[in-house]
Amino acid sequence: MKTYDAIVAGGGLIGASIALELACAGLKVGLFDAQKPGREASWASGGMISPSPESPSMNSVLPMSMASVRVYPEFIRLVEELSGKNVGYRKEGALDIFLKETPQAEITEILEQHRAAGLRAEAVSSQQASELEPEITAEIRAGIVRHDEASLDSRIFTESTLEAAQRQGAEIYSGNGAKALWTDGNVCKGLQLDNGRVEARWTVIAAGCFSARIEGAERYAPVVPARGQMVALRCDAVKIQRDLWCDHMYLVPRTDGRIIAGSTIEYEGYDRNVTASGLKKILTGALSLVPGLEKARIEETWAGLRPDTPDHLPILGPTDREGLMIATGHFRSGILLAPITARLICEWVTTQRVSLDWTPFSPMRFQAKRQPQTA
Ligand SMILES: Cc1cc2nc3c(=O)[nH]c(=O)nc-3n(C[C@H](O)[C@H](O)[C@H](O)COP(=O)(O)OP(=O)(O)OC[C@H]3O[C@@H](n4cnc5c(N)ncnc54)[C@H](O)[C@@H]3O)c2cc1C
Repeated sequence: MKTYDAIVAGGGLIGASIALELACAGLKVGLFDAQKPGREASWASGGMISPSPESPSMNSVLPMSMASVRVYPEFIRLVEELSGKNVGYRKEGALDIFLKETPQAEITEILEQHRAAGLRAEAVSSQQASELEPEITAEIRAGIVRHDEASLDSRIFTESTLEAAQRQGAEIYSGNGAKALWTDGNVCKGLQLDNGRVEARWTVIAAGCFSARIEGAERYAPVVPARGQMVALRCDAVKIQRDLWCDHMYLVPRTDGRIIAGSTIEYEGYDRNVTASGLKKILTGALSLVPGLEKARIEETWAGLRPDTPDHLPILGPTDREGLMIATGHFRSGILLAPITARLICEWVTTQRVSLDWTPFSPMRFQAKRQPQTA
């Protein structure tokens, strides 16, 4: 039986980033994936590094999002240096497009929210927006430019992060997933894998929306899959510079010339199929934003499963089982939050302290809710 300082269940971007960070800290790390790592949500993602708060209910994630944005360039440098790959990082900002007459008060409120968070955002007229992005629809009524938004190719990034972790000495195993926690009393000794057991001082569950299927982990990580469908378009005549957003639909330009259009949020279990209604919604949204895409070639369609949680917040940190940590439930923001997630897990493993308050994301919060109230 193999023994490690730390083992990670799951080789999506979250598990890969944690393995890299822990290996860089000098730990002996093993990462175990049920299949070829990096082929689930992290592969399916739009790759946007978007710290803007989508709703006030997500404000508690903001400090973590901002911290991740700050460490992102350094993290990318590390991954690119170790893997020798370019991950398609683009820091061109985003443009929110308003197609309906929007009250000034609403725009001012959005701008205020951004400024309060320390994010740069500015309102633009329809004419200014069209000068910035000539391909957008003439129907635009107003826009907001968000300067701090970036994106990358999440497929290459996940693969490169796994490779970087390996170069730093982490051992990565495909096709040998975690079936159950291996516990002894109150101590997590490691994992029961499909093939045998593996022992470690620290066990990190980072299996995305599959984490709840690992026996013993479901009480800390009650994640469910939220399907998102995507379409890759190519049209040489149409160039967009920024990520474009309108009513939760988006277009993300890639460095390889593709434009990624997304997405849907559907609760259909672990079904990864692309559907007619999903494609209709995405393509209708895409063409209403950039009519010139009418002649675009559809290069690829796919769907992925986001790890969602009962309160839509990530699940991060230690548990009441010694040695057991959880890092999942990043829902729509796992690409954004990967570097800071890895940093915090590594801080806890090496010093039992963290540089950012992660109590809102504690894996223990679901158990507190389950306990009966006493008078
Ligand atoms: C369509 C779509 C668009 C998105 N767009 C964005 C975006 O633009 N920006 C953003 O920040 N986020 C985005 N997200 C969300 C983001 O992709 C996820 O939050 C993130 O990828 C989650 O990463 P993960 O490593 O936790 O999970 P995953 O990438 O799903 O990885 C989980 C891994 O665990 C493995 N596994 C499964 N079962 C086991 C087991 N029993 N034992 C061991 N391993 C196991 C799987 O094989 C997989 O490799 C999007 C998601 C989708 C689906």
